[in-house]
Amino acid sequence: MPLRTIRGRLTFWYTSLLSLSFMVLGGAGYGLLAYTLSQESDAGLRRVAQTLAERTGTGLESFIPSEIDEVFRRFLGFSPLEHYFERLPPGHSSSHGGKLPLSPQALKNASRGLPTFETLEGLGPYPVRVLTWPVVKAGRVSGIIQVGLSRENLDKTLRRFLWIMVSILPAALLLAGGGGWILARRALKPVDRMTETARRISAEHLDRQVQGSGAGDELDRLAQTLNDMLGRLKVAFQEIRQFSADASHELQTPLTVLKGEIEVGLRSPRRPEEYQAILRSALEETDRIARLVEGLLLLSRSEAGVLRMDRRTVNLRDLIEVVVKEVQPLAGSHSVKLLTGSIELAHVQGDPDHLRRLLLNLVDNGIKYTPSGGSVEVSLRSDEKWAMLQVSDTGIGIAKEDQEKIFRRFYRTGAPRARLESGAGLGLAISQSIAEAHGGRIQVESVPGQGSIFTVFLPLSF
Ligand code: ADP
Repeated sequence: MPLRTIRGRLTFWYTSLLSLSFMVLGGAGYGLLAYTLSQESDAGLRRVAQTLAERTGTGLESFIPSEIDEVFRRFLGFSPLEHYFERLPPGHSSSHGGKLPLSPQALKNASRGLPTFETLEGLGPYPVRVLTWPVVKAGRVSGIIQVGLSRENLDKTLRRFLWIMVSILPAALLLAGGGGWILARRALKPVDRMTETARRISAEHLDRQVQGSGAGDELDRLAQTLNDMLGRLKVAFQEIRQFSADASHELQTPLTVLKGEIEVGLRSPRRPEEYQAILRSALEETDRIARLVEGLLLLSRSEAGVLRMDRRTVNLRDLIEVVVKEVQPLAGSHSVKLLTGSIELAHVQGDPDHLRRLLLNLVDNGIKYTPSGGSVEVSLRSDEKWAMLQVSDTGIGIAKEDQEKIFRRFYRTGAPRARLESGAGLGLAISQSIAEAHGGRIQVESVPGQGSIFTVFLPLSF
């Protein structure tokens, strides 16, 4: 039997357990039968001896053997071919020479008025069960009766039972094993179907569904789980495809510009200032490409859990000061007021460069998406566990349905100003991975046309 398959193992264990139960039950049945038959035969012998003893009231001489046969038939329900009866007058001894031997123990017991059961060999082809029974008259042992019964019938019945058991066992096991095999095959059929479907599923065919048994059982649940997993894989594959398409697209634009500029520069001889202008513009595009690649690298590293972090205690108040100072010129060029609100003292464990980048992205967005005349405010609060770094603006705001999506890579809202100002759509995705790498998160609240509040939660260091 091929035990490498579940079907084979199930059948093997099922059949083994069944054989074991069969043998235990058979053994118990045999024992019980042997015990009951022996008990019954002893009880029969006892009744015969009693009857005989009662009939000795007038003297043991009145017995004739044919009567004994009848007594056996009446009490045991059969007439044993081999039966034994012995009567001994008072003053008997163990070496009386009778047909049934009288053992010293039986003699001793009888003289005390006690019966004795013995199984004796050598009296015939089968052992004989012998009962030595004292005949008590007027409180005194007046004689001994011995009755014996061959164990022939009992042994034959037991042997027949054993024979039936032994001949049934292989047939029952064969039937059970075959039945078990067929049942296991039927029960596991849906697994074969699932394997077949799973074999045909590839990245291009994630729409395929695994079919369960349809009975709402474990296999159905397995099929459902596999289908859910396929659904998630499909989404993940789509995201990867989308990501590659977006990344190529984002890289293609500055590369095309760069190529065009170089081509223009090479087309005809130019003055040094013109070359300088072309090179400056080319450098800007190269910077854009470098930023994009750096951002993608950071995201993929953080996703793979291998983002390099130079962890140390960072004073967020100092961080805000540095970033605000750095971005002030940009705010000025957009005619947006960059303010610092209430700033509490808070320290976190983290990488200062990554945290600087996070805050820079948020403040930069605040300025980009706030029309001139508006303001962006940075503040810092804390509770017993978290530092809450907040960047609020009076800008264009974000529609409810976009608030969750803006953290996705390359996602940009359709708001006209957003389209005009937007970068590659990686800033918030990067900020969120940085926050998560620090054990924190970013939350956004926004009312379109009124402004947005981005809150970064970072665990405080103690
Ligand atoms: P981008 O480089 O386009 O700014 P981000 O990931 O930083 O990419 O932002 C994703 C999108 O979220 C932006 O394109 C913009 O539509 C929206 N967004 C981000 N910050 C703000 C903000 N402060 N106010 C309004 N919209 C915002």
